[in-house]
Amino acid sequence: MATRTPRRNIQPPPEGDQPAIENQPQTSPQTQFEEVSVPTKCSGCGIDTITVLEYEIGNLSWTLCFIVALSGFCLGCCFVPFCLKTTKDVLHKCPDCKYTIARFNKM
Ligand SMILES: [Zn+2]
Repeated sequence: MATRTPRRNIQPPPEGDQPAIENQPQTSPQTQFEEVSVPTKCSGCGIDTITVLEYEIGNLSWTLCFIVALSGFCLGCCFVPFCLKTTKDVLHKCPDCKYTIARFNKM
């Protein structure tokens, strides 16, 4: 009757040349940054958080402004797109460090 020597799980030595993938500041590609706050990891401070939204004048605002102006409306009307959230681009920011995590362009 042969006695088995207990085998230990021998771990291979860590390879020092491989970069640690976990430490790379990247947002996951599955995250859809649109017009609602989304849970994500902040690239600035590295914490898991829910983005806060800020609105910024973007291409859609300018395009609508020109369309309104060219349509012959009065001068003031072409500035209406700059006042509407729905025409502005959405910035997803970290509530802690105010880092801009992503930007949702309407156009
Ligand atoms: Zn942050």
